[in-house]
Amino acid sequence: DKVKIRTALLSVSDKTGIVELAQTLIAHGVRLLSTGGTHKAIAAEGLPVTDVSELTGFPEIMDGRVKTLHPRVHGGLLAIRDDAEHVAAMKEHGIESIDLVVINLYPFEDVRAAGGDYPTTVENIDIGGPAMIRASAKNHAYVTILTDPADYPAAMQALRSDDGQTSYAFRQTLAAKAFARTAAYDAAISNWFAEALDIEMPRHRVIGGVLKEKMRYGENPHQSAGFYVTGEKRAGVATAVLLQGKQLSYNNINDTDAAFELVSEFPADKAPACAIIKHANPCGVATGTSLLDAYRRALSCDSVSAFGGIIALNQTLDAAAAEDIIKLFTEVIIAPDASDEAKAIVARKPNLRLLVTGGLPDPRSRGLSARTVSGGLLVQTRDNGMVEDLDLRVVTKRAPTAQELEDMKFAFTVAKHVKSNAVVYAKNGQTAGIGAGQMSRVDSVRIAALKAEDAAKAAGWDGPTTRGSAVASEAFLPFADGLLEAIAAGATAVIQPGGSMRDEEVIAAADAHGIAMVFTGMRHFRH
Ligand code: 5GP
Repeated sequence: DKVKIRTALLSVSDKTGIVELAQTLIAHGVRLLSTGGTHKAIAAEGLPVTDVSELTGFPEIMDGRVKTLHPRVHGGLLAIRDDAEHVAAMKEHGIESIDLVVINLYPFEDVRAAGGDYPTTVENIDIGGPAMIRASAKNHAYVTILTDPADYPAAMQALRSDDGQTSYAFRQTLAAKAFARTAAYDAAISNWFAEALDIEMPRHRVIGGVLKEKMRYGENPHQSAGFYVTGEKRAGVATAVLLQGKQLSYNNINDTDAAFELVSEFPADKAPACAIIKHANPCGVATGTSLLDAYRRALSCDSVSAFGGIIALNQTLDAAAAEDIIKLFTEVIIAPDASDEAKAIVARKPNLRLLVTGGLPDPRSRGLSARTVSGGLLVQTRDNGMVEDLDLRVVTKRAPTAQELEDMKFAFTVAKHVKSNAVVYAKNGQTAGIGAGQMSRVDSVRIAALKAEDAAKAAGWDGPTTRGSAVASEAFLPFADGLLEAIAAGATAVIQPGGSMRDEEVIAAADAHGIAMVFTGMRHFRH
């Protein structure tokens, strides 16, 4: 199963490490073939290399669109070396076998990420490269395929220690990696089309990504994990720059995403906003007169849970907010940017991770969300519904006051980002109590009120309160019981999708207590 490398074809866009690899191959008596740019890079070092067009007897044509798409290349890659018919065909057509192929593709992903225009991005769809990668990987019984400069050292080591040969196991591993590369490449192209053409439905879509980083472990220490990026153009945790602090963990990334997506619901030009997240659920969200004020108001909702949490801000982190935030043990701060002064303040806590994104993602934008189930992937469009866009319907005798309406919208927006069953009390742009992830809605109503009471007690009855608050339920209230609990906690206004069989009963209970209730007609389950 050992194969002696006699001929190698090198065709790389990223020339990293290619000269050293070429030198090692030549030292082992390997004949080098290469395409235009790669040929130039190798020949410039005075190394012997043959242009592929000499082999094919055909020049590179159409701006490089056709360089290696030729039977002399593909026959040399695909031939079964001990098949009499294949060998005869090689002889008849003057095909020589190619034993090692080194390719990295046109940088489609980079061009896409850099926001290349349509024709430039299309031109960066590599055709010959993937064809050669796939041919080589299919024929891994004979061919060694290198698609990543990170694998060159192992290949050189194999050649050195094994007299210019590679083992079957090594070629197999490289073939598996090669198909992962072409699959991810095509997924990126498909996703770029979906974005460019605004294809919303998950049809014509491939879910795929490129490994950005391996994590030390997953959700738990005995799980292994990696972070794959899809290349979607969206300000957020995948594209953020880590200014300081150690690598983010799996849970950090998940929670940071939840935090930033939530805070992005609040436009930066309207008011500063802050969301504090633990275990993917908010433990406090608030707007304020400044970032510091927003942070303090968010924190006071549940300062106990906020310990070790993630803090997301919708504006540039400033010195005043930074100074206060670092007093709390926090895992991550994520913001569109940070002032130099704020950066210096955060630097006093070297373990605290500071991420900047360059902007806020658009909560209305389309996109896909996916999760695994046993044996499959569930894919759906992102929940991009916003309460501002809904025709809210007052269903009670009493209409909400302007303030109640503002609080309702705020509460419903936060509830969208809380695990179901989700209940959120809010007042004056500040959450007062959040009930998350219960199997019974009435329990979420109770827990939210209980947490609000605890927080109020901790603040000497000075903190946010459910008295006179608006309460949001992310899905309809199926019975009047939840409503009555919320009323008992002091809520005066209720926002919920409506649509229950017992809406009449719930509305009657609200009317009996002088409550204002609004139906949104839109549900925000989040599981
Ligand atoms: P070079 O810089 O050597 O001129 O080009 C290297 C790049 O060309 C590699 O990324 C390789 O995948 C790509 N490539 C090789 N053959 C072909 C081909 O026939 N068509 C296209 N479009 N790209 C090719």
